[in-house]
Amino acid sequence: MAEPTLYVVATPIGNLRDITLRALDTLKSVDAIAAEDTRVSRKLLAHFGIQVDLISAHEHNEREAAQRLVALLSQGKSVALISDAGTPAISDPGAIIVAQARAAGFRVVSIPGASAITTAIAAAGLQSGSFCFHGFLPARKGDREKKLADLKAQRELQVFYEAPHRIVECVASIAAVFGGDRRIGIARELTKLFEQVHVCRLDEAVAWLEQNENHRRGEFVLLVEGGPEADAQGESDPQRVLGILLEELPLKQAVGLAAEITGIKKNALYEKALKLKKDGSGEKQ
Ligand code: SAM
Repeated sequence: MAEPTLYVVATPIGNLRDITLRALDTLKSVDAIAAEDTRVSRKLLAHFGIQVDLISAHEHNEREAAQRLVALLSQGKSVALISDAGTPAISDPGAIIVAQARAAGFRVVSIPGASAITTAIAAAGLQSGSFCFHGFLPARKGDREKKLADLKAQRELQVFYEAPHRIVECVASIAAVFGGDRRIGIARELTKLFEQVHVCRLDEAVAWLEQNENHRRGEFVLLVEGGPEADAQGESDPQRVLGILLEELPLKQAVGLAAEITGIKKNALYEKALKLKKDGSGEKQ
């Protein structure tokens, strides 16, 4: 008998032909499929002629669903986990189920496929070597802008998910906090009939959304260029902070202030300051 296994299976994010052959083989072979919304998944499975028992596993019952799935695994059965679209556990339920299956000692296998993150990055041409995915930003403006302020200095491409009813206010917040100069990729309806990936400056993005109601329709991935070098180094680069302070203040005072700004211990900064001074920084006596 095959080893009981939890398969985490990616499903399409729009175009049904994006399901993989391995995903279909797996979904056909398991004893049960845990699905985020069984009505949504029933349509997908019917399209591919798959008839397997469905178990509901959504964000409000994931712990109980996990227990049910672990019980099935304990009986020697294999189960698959799918979400409404894309890869489970990416802004979707799944992580708790996987953790519980692993904790109970069962084999977990990921069957890769579509995710809106990678699909959007591939089409936008904004990749900078690394990216940071944040899922959905907070719905309330104050919370959203506070979160964005925390991300402003990050150098990596910043990736967000957003729903159509919040797209304009979300993009407006990003432009307000990050400034207008960076480029944003607005990827909507990926793999679907009205797929569109629009790249522009942040200060042009709200106008583009408002220019045509179709631009505000569908599901969105937002990709925003990371902050410029100066932003990222800014106040937390101890060398730079010390250099500036040493130009205006006596060494001891400069070290004390730099320790407060950077959170680095005074001793370590003191040594750096001495070296800077020796290398010719303009310290005041
Ligand atoms: N697990 C999914 C994945 O792997 O991408 C994401 C699920 S999350 C609940 C749904 C969000 O993903 C949408 O609100 C949208 O931001 C993004 N998304 C999903 N499908 C998309 C598509 N076809 N085009 C653009 N964004 C999409």
